[in-house]
Amino acid sequence: MADILIIGGSDAGISAALRAREIDNTANVTMLVADAFPNYSICGLPFYLSGEVADWRQLAHRTLGEIQGTGIKVELNTRALQIDPKQHSVLIHRPDNREEFLRYDRLIIGTGAEPIRPSIPGLNNRGVFLLHSMDDSFAAADFIASHKPERALIIGAGYIGLEMADALRRQQIAVTVVEQMPAVLPTVDRELGEALGTYIESHGVEVKTGVRIQEIGRDGDGLRVTGDGDFDRRVDMVLVVVGVTPVSELATMAGIATGLRSAIVVDRTMATNFDDIYAAGDCVVTYHRLLNADTYMPLGTTAHKQGRVAGENAAGGQTLYGGSLGTQVVKVFDLAVARTGLRDHEARVAGYHPVTVEFSTWDHKAYYPGAHRLTFRITGDKVTGQLLGAQVMGHWQGAVAKRVDIFAMALYHQMQVADILEIDLSYTPPLGSPWDAVQMAAEQWQKHRQDA
Ligand SMILES: Cc1cc2nc3c(=O)[nH]c(=O)nc-3n(C[C@H](O)[C@H](O)[C@H](O)COP(=O)(O)OP(=O)(O)OC[C@H]3O[C@@H](n4cnc5c(N)ncnc54)[C@H](O)[C@@H]3O)c2cc1C
Repeated sequence: MADILIIGGSDAGISAALRAREIDNTANVTMLVADAFPNYSICGLPFYLSGEVADWRQLAHRTLGEIQGTGIKVELNTRALQIDPKQHSVLIHRPDNREEFLRYDRLIIGTGAEPIRPSIPGLNNRGVFLLHSMDDSFAAADFIASHKPERALIIGAGYIGLEMADALRRQQIAVTVVEQMPAVLPTVDRELGEALGTYIESHGVEVKTGVRIQEIGRDGDGLRVTGDGDFDRRVDMVLVVVGVTPVSELATMAGIATGLRSAIVVDRTMATNFDDIYAAGDCVVTYHRLLNADTYMPLGTTAHKQGRVAGENAAGGQTLYGGSLGTQVVKVFDLAVARTGLRDHEARVAGYHPVTVEFSTWDHKAYYPGAHRLTFRITGDKVTGQLLGAQVMGHWQGAVAKRVDIFAMALYHQMQVADILEIDLSYTPPLGSPWDAVQMAAEQWQKHRQDA
């Protein structure tokens, strides 16, 4: 009976634990969780803070009882302090302050990421929040309930910043979003980011791009936020969401190799450089399927898949992580924006000959009520015709996410853009067209490929 010890009980940790028990139901699987929230969906925090999810308990993917019912031992409020790879043991700190060593045959590290704290003076002021953990969201929720803020400022217009702009507007709070890059959502092309910024403004959000915040000062009961140029706003709360950094100190202290952005280096079996130690999720580098190289891609979808591979291999299986394509989607008010694969500049750096073509059309036959415009940006290789990436923006009920997933599937199989025209996709007027919007966009790319 193997002792499999897992550090972390979020997306990566739970996926590893469940898979390990599926592969070997005699294995003793123990999951250490630093807080009291195993298997909670932190992806759902903006929807809890918006009020769309009424009770935070609904964010649990599984209850503690359900997890334990699968035979996994869960140690809550228990922190791993030190890994000793030679002794195959982990020093832990229990909630009653006791410290002890736990032995393992195989260890899986799923310690995740933590929010970046930019070096802006005033970050510790009351009313300034980060958003990553359940506790972070409780702190923000308590503040909103007790202080009834009228104005909020969000530093960072990535997907979490934008979800939070939507969430706070739903709470009737005036919102300013500040982004240092030229457009919001810098993970997609500027053309889409600018259109998205204009759209968000139409929902009463002030959008300031190209501005770096310099200081958050106190101003009576509120906060004064100053930035580049003459940027100066008085607000009641500030949310800082400028990205995450891997939690990899435990690994580093144990001599486990780290690489890009200090993330733990793993191979496609999710093994580290130590025998019997695996790692998965936001704390590791991520193999990118198109680049055939490591990237850092802290996403829930990735963490689940990597965790499953780590769990399977730790339990004696032999499987490989298929690789990420960076597929992601965000919903802001009524718009969804999604991407997969490489953007033009990323493809160029990787040695491709990219051409990107933008195309706009209806999500379904325009004569059927409720049709919405979708905008596509497709990137393919001019020389080989290979699909390299796709971005889609449109009404969230226009199946934006599932349409980008068609491109993700095509990328997974290294298909040509032209191949997309041949796929037998479904059709009925209320939901699509005989040539689906993704096929029309692919056809436009084909036409423009010749001119590029
Ligand atoms: C607001 C928000 C919205 C998001 N939305 C999306 C989305 O829509 N789509 C998407 O794909 N991704 C989204 N993400 C990202 C996604 O949530 C993360 O990629 C995912 O949670 C990573 O899972 P993980 O298990 O690797 O790490 P984490 O979720 O960071 O969990 C780490 C775990 O390790 C534990 N831990 C850490 N150190 C120790 C220690 N020393 N001892 C014991 N336990 C420890 C923690 O308690 C926790 O259980 C979002 C993230 C946030 C914050």
